Amino acid sequence: MELAIIAHDGKKAEMVNFLMKNIEKLRENNVEIIATGTTGSFVEQAGLKVTKMLSGPKGGDAQIAARVAEGKTHMVFFFRDPMGKHVHEPDINMLLRMCDVWNVPLATNPATASLLIDHLK
Ligand code: PGA
Repeated sequence: MELAIIAHDGKKAEMVNFLMKNIEKLRENNVEIIATGTTGSFVEQAGLKVTKMLSGPKGGDAQIAARVAEGKTHMVFFFRDPMGKHVHEPDINMLLRMCDVWNVPLATNPATASLLIDHLK
């Protein structure tokens, strides 16, 4: 199963901590992680295996949205910074929309992501 992760700058550390805390469950369930570019680099530095797309503002969110539409990505953790403004807002909205169009589980904060991980089988 493919999990896409995206974290805005103010949330990248939280994403890394979250993944480290849940790494055993992710491994047990053969979860493969893909990420937008910069988020992916942070996760790699923490020692995790991840496939990186372009950085978010350069099209990474759009690439992930396409994978959701194609049925390649099965779950999305998108830790958004509700206090920030983003040049690629249209791409972000497209990704959220694609998750709803294709009924793909989407967590926008760690509390929801925890609930999703606890229900992996
Ligand atoms: P980034 O993109 O991981 O390349 O920073 C995240 C985003 O802002 O969509």
